[in-house]
Amino acid sequence: MDKIIKLHDKSFSPFISKEKIENEISRVARQINKDYQGKKPLLVGILNGSILFFSDLLKQLDIECEVAFLRVSSYKGTETTGNVKKVLGLDKDINNTDVIIVEDIVDTGITLENIFKDLSSNNPKSLKVATLLFKPKAYTKNYPIDYVGFEVGNEFLVGYGLDYDEIGRNLDEIYIIKENTMHNIILFGPPGAGKGTQSELIQAKYNLTHLSTGDMFRFHMKNDTALGKKAKEYMEAGNLVPDELVIKMIENKLDESNNSKGYIFDGFPRTTDQAIALDELLSKKGSQINSMIALEVEEDELVKRLLLRGQESQRKDDQDESIIRNRMVVYNKETAPLKDFYSNQDKFIGVNGLGTIEEINERINEAIDA
Ligand code: 5GP
Ligand code: MG
Repeated sequence: MDKIIKLHDKSFSPFISKEKIENEISRVARQINKDYQGKKPLLVGILNGSILFFSDLLKQLDIECEVAFLRVSSYKGTETTGNVKKVLGLDKDINNTDVIIVEDIVDTGITLENIFKDLSSNNPKSLKVATLLFKPKAYTKNYPIDYVGFEVGNEFLVGYGLDYDEIGRNLDEIYIIKENTMHNIILFGPPGAGKGTQSELIQAKYNLTHLSTGDMFRFHMKNDTALGKKAKEYMEAGNLVPDELVIKMIENKLDESNNSKGYIFDGFPRTTDQAIALDELLSKKGSQINSMIALEVEEDELVKRLLLRGQESQRKDDQDESIIRNRMVVYNKETAPLKDFYSNQDKFIGVNGLGTIEEINERINEAIDA
């Protein structure tokens, strides 16, 4: 799994490595050393973002030079405000001086234009720009950018001086924002509501990965794995398998299927603690649950369906009405509170679970598309 980090509410993945940054800064430094031979330029660092680039660049300059700083700010969150505030002015006379503006990133160029106008009015001998990162597609100005470390796309970047709402500047490589493209559904409902059947149909239509904890445990039990042995006693009595066993198993599955377009969770989460754990697991992937779809079916109908299934399959827990009734009691007591958990996040959608497989599937598809 690649190293995804979380800053405030957003996730970021590695984009430009330390080594690449070092290489490009060396290239820029060599060029400046060459262009400014015999001159004494003043490097004007634009605070706060340029701190790391500025110091790494400075260390590699072998010409005589001086430094000064300007502080400007124009960003809020991940959007430029287009409204540049100069917070701290320059305390050096730049009249007749060769000036190099040192920026972390040039995006629309609005900030640069302000700095350019401000410095030009003080009659420098020359005025050039060095930036670690440049977003040519976003650039709306005509000032030449003389030294560029990397040309990048319009995606929001952090690290190596660049912040997201003031954090992330200390990262020693550059990260790119991770757009959340996964779609995750919990298919919810009492035993016998048709979750397994419907999951197969949703999986095929939306290309999602179906994770059925019941199927996973049955697989482990059939193969008599250590996990299977542990789970067996709980499942055959119609009780819930302990949270930590289930969560660990789900975590392993999520790690195995890293490039999934999303998941259908079937039979999980079953408790509020599992739901909280699932949020954490998904959040590490920069994702979350989109909706919980609950199939709603009355208890007597469910018992009828399960007994029928018990006749056709070898599932012990489907063959005994008292075990089935106990599963309903457990469902209502422990699992139903999840309805509130997801309702509070506006993610709960109830779907009528009576009718043909096709009719129910139609209703589920409508819920997903909405
Ligand atoms: P401008 O749009 O004026 O060229 O850029 C304004 C400022 O926005 C930059 O100096 C920088 O502080 C910030 N900025 C632009 N793009 C990004 C980005 O991808 N990540 C971060 N952290 N800041 C950016
Ligand atoms: Mg900046």
